Amino acid sequence: ALIKHLSSHVGEQVTVQGWVYNQRSSGKITFIILRDGSGLMQGVAVKQEVGETLFGEAKKLTQESAVKLTGIIREEPRSVGGYEMQVTGLEIVSIAEDYPITHKEHGVDFLAEHRHLWIRTPRQAAVLRIRSEIEHALRNFFYERDFVLADAPIITPAACEGTTNLFEIDYHGEKGYLSQSGQLYNEANAMALGRIYCFGPTFRAEKSKTRRHLLEFWMIEAEMAYFDLDANIELQEEMICYVVQRVLNKCQNELKTLERDIEKLKAIKPPFPRISYTEAVELLKQAGEEFTWGDDFGAPHETIISNHFNAPVFVHRYPAAIKAFYMKPDPDNHQVVLGADLLAPEGYGEIIGGGQRIDDLALLEQRIAEHKLPQAAFEWYLDLRRFGTVPHSGFGLGLERTVAWLCGLEHIRETIPFPRMLHKMYP
Ligand code: ATP
Ligand code: MG
Ligand code: MG
Ligand code: MG
Repeated sequence: ALIKHLSSHVGEQVTVQGWVYNQRSSGKITFIILRDGSGLMQGVAVKQEVGETLFGEAKKLTQESAVKLTGIIREEPRSVGGYEMQVTGLEIVSIAEDYPITHKEHGVDFLAEHRHLWIRTPRQAAVLRIRSEIEHALRNFFYERDFVLADAPIITPAACEGTTNLFEIDYHGEKGYLSQSGQLYNEANAMALGRIYCFGPTFRAEKSKTRRHLLEFWMIEAEMAYFDLDANIELQEEMICYVVQRVLNKCQNELKTLERDIEKLKAIKPPFPRISYTEAVELLKQAGEEFTWGDDFGAPHETIISNHFNAPVFVHRYPAAIKAFYMKPDPDNHQVVLGADLLAPEGYGEIIGGGQRIDDLALLEQRIAEHKLPQAAFEWYLDLRRFGTVPHSGFGLGLERTVAWLCGLEHIRETIPFPRMLHKMYP
């Protein structure tokens, strides 16, 4: 049985296969905290019941030794996970060497170098299970709304949004790049399939160290034909609420392990506040920040803005100059575009970037020229405006940022099994 399902095995004899997280013994009784990847369980082996030989074996179990425990499950509120096994059988699969990660505090670098082992600790495992739940929730959300999953290519011939953060690869003598967004392909797929999403790895050669940027991360990107900015924002709001609800329902143990303040998550309900970039700049000025209209927000700015709200907040209508070339200008004010970022509460910053795309061929050609992008590389993309162009919108949600927020983590490095960070790719 899996430890997470022990509640349905009370009174039954089961076998749990796992690894020793902790073991302590007295002369007559041994307590084994076993982990199996789904949770922790306490096994109790009493010398009189298991016999001399087996009891002797149990005492040899070091941390991370692999073992199968058999016994009867009973409810035990004082024990980890709320259930306990009265051990009647014990089979040692392997005895672990001296385990480097102990129950004491370790430094950040040490943990990073031992990431392959660090992920076994209950906190890290809880984060990764929540990550998995979020991924499933997102996929279900789109599936239930008839979106088609359309994967965008990872190797691309040109950049979506400028070349500064691109990883270049040698494509048999030709220059290729690792995808930093599926955006342009998503638009093509949306014109073919109506409503689509892709969910894939994204690569950005970020050049500064922050708590929010990885060099490889996962982004779920949706693109919808016939959606304007408002419809786009509403969909995002619905999606975030769906995911939060799912994590609250399915990951109670994990959230407890992480000591996440779940009241803050329970408060996430639609509608989320919506403010314009210009209004956000006002909030910064009121807070005493020196900020010039037209600049992009940095992480500290986003924190100041989001601290005004205890829900995620949409900031819309950014200056055109700081957004991608394909963003549609606001017909009421050409200085700004019909784009919106979603800032997570509690200072977690931008988790979604999205907007309505330019649907007019001539304007798009003009923007490509203004951004000094090679038009030839975008001819296929311009075809989307030549053949049946329609208003359309989309967005990209950063999975790791979302995990960091929902788990209440300080740093994005804990949100993915093997983070890729500046000057760090081992293990
Ligand atoms: P930021 O302003 O924080 O650098 P961005 O505006 O460059 O983010 P977008 O291009 O809008 O990011 O990408 C969409 C989403 O992808 C972001 O809202 C964020 O959630 C996520 N994201 C962007 N860059 C990274 C990164 N380096 N590591 C992890 N997630 C990222
Ligand atoms: Mg960025
Ligand atoms: Mg941004
Ligand atoms: Mg953005």
